[in-house]
Amino acid sequence: MKVVKFGGSSLASAEQFKKAGAIVREDKSRRYVIPSAPGKRFDTDTKVTDLLYQMDALAQEKKDFSEVLKQIKERYQEIIDGLELKDFSLEEQFEEIEKKMKEEPDPDYAASRGEHLNGRIMAAYLGYTFVDPFEMIFFDEEGMLEDRRTMRAVEKRLAEVERAVVPGFYGCGHDGRVKTFSRGGSDVTGSIVAGACHADVYENWTDVSGFLVADPRIIPNPAKIEVITYRELRELSYMGASVLHEEAIFPVRRQGIPINIKNTNCPQDEGTWIVESTAQKTGYVITGIAGRKDFCAVLIYKDMMNSEIGFGRKVLQAFEDNDISFEHMPSGIDTMTIVVHEDEFIEKEQRVVSAIHRLAQPDSVEIESDLALIAVVGRGMKSMRGTAGRIFSALAHAHVNVRMIDQGSSELNIIIGVENRDFETALRAIYDIFVLTQL
Ligand code: ASP
Repeated sequence: MKVVKFGGSSLASAEQFKKAGAIVREDKSRRYVIPSAPGKRFDTDTKVTDLLYQMDALAQEKKDFSEVLKQIKERYQEIIDGLELKDFSLEEQFEEIEKKMKEEPDPDYAASRGEHLNGRIMAAYLGYTFVDPFEMIFFDEEGMLEDRRTMRAVEKRLAEVERAVVPGFYGCGHDGRVKTFSRGGSDVTGSIVAGACHADVYENWTDVSGFLVADPRIIPNPAKIEVITYRELRELSYMGASVLHEEAIFPVRRQGIPINIKNTNCPQDEGTWIVESTAQKTGYVITGIAGRKDFCAVLIYKDMMNSEIGFGRKVLQAFEDNDISFEHMPSGIDTMTIVVHEDEFIEKEQRVVSAIHRLAQPDSVEIESDLALIAVVGRGMKSMRGTAGRIFSALAHAHVNVRMIDQGSSELNIIIGVENRDFETALRAIYDIFVLTQL
C-alpha cells in the first residue's frame, strides 16, 4: 500500500491535476492521497496559500478582501473547469469561508482552506472518499503534534475507508480550532498517514526528480542522489538543502517506511529513496554537499582550559541565557569556539560576551563573522581512507582558506568553515573532486 502526497506545483492547474490523477490511477496500491494547495503555475505566479494569508491579513484589519477572494475562487474554478467536473461546486465552501473571514478571521483557518478545497476537488476527481484531517490530526497546547493520539485516530479512521483523499497541512488545535503545520507541512501530513496506515512506501510527488548532490544554483547540472539515509538527509537539510519538510521524516522513520521523492512531470524517473539503512553503495564517496553562509564564530581563550572542570558548561550557559542555540563547537586545548547563526546572534553579541566573561572568566573572547559552513555528508565516508585529505587538497588547489573543521565521530559528515566569499568556490571544488573527477 502506498501513501502519495502531491506538492503544490503538482496540483497548480487542471493540467497538473490530470498528471497526478493518472499517477494515482495507474497503481491500485496508491490508496491514500494527500494534496497540497495549488502552487505556482509559472515563476511569477502566487501560491494559493499566500493568497489566503493575504486575505486573512486584510480581514484582520477589517479591510475589503473581496478582490483576493475572487482570485482564489478563480484559481479553483479554472481547475474544476479544466477537469470537467460536472455537478461539482465549491460555492458552499466559499460562502462559509467568506462568512468566517468577516466574523473571526484566523490565519491558520484561512491557510488551511487551500488544501481543504484542493482535497475536495481531488476526491471528486478520483472518486475517493474525502477525509478531513481536522477529525484526526491533533496538536497540543504548545502547538506540537499530539503524536500518539493522532496516529491512533488516523489509523482507526482510515481503516474504514478503502481509498481516501486527506488534505495536507492542517489539523485540529488544542482549542478546537483549525491549526496548520509550518509552511510546507503537507509533507508531514503525508508522513503521518503513511506511518499510521503502515504503508509500504510514502511517495512524495514534487517537481524535481529527487535530491541532487549539490545545489543546482551553484553547481550546474549536479548528479542525482539515488538513495539517501534519514540521517544523511537530516545533516543535509539542516545545512539548507530543502525538498522535504524537516519534520516529515519522523512518523515514517520509526516504522522503517521508505520515502520515495518522485517527479510528477517525469513519473518514469526513479527519484530518490530515503531509507533507514541500506547496503547499497553510493555512486560516489559522498552522498551530498550543502552549506549556508552567515555564521559567526565566538573564540574563547583561557590558559589551562583543558583542566578546568565545568568551563564548557559555563560558556554554553551564556548562550542559553540569551536564548541562542549554537551550531557547532570545535575546541582546542586552551580554546573553544562556538559557532552561531549571525542573524540570531548579532543583536545579542555584547550581552553574550559579557555573560561569558562573568560566568567563565576567560582570558579573551573574540568574534569572527562572515563564516560559511559546508557539510560534506556521506555514509560511504566511514570506510574510506583519505576523504578529509581529498577535501582539503581540493580546497587548497582552489585557493580557499579553511577556517574551521568539525568532524562528528559518526564519520557521516565533515563540516568545513570558510569565508562567505569563498563559499561557492569551495562547494565547486569539493563537488568536482568527488563527483566529476572521482579520483
Ligand atoms: N500549502 C502550504 C504551503 O504553501 C503547505 C504545503 O504546501 O505543504 O506552505
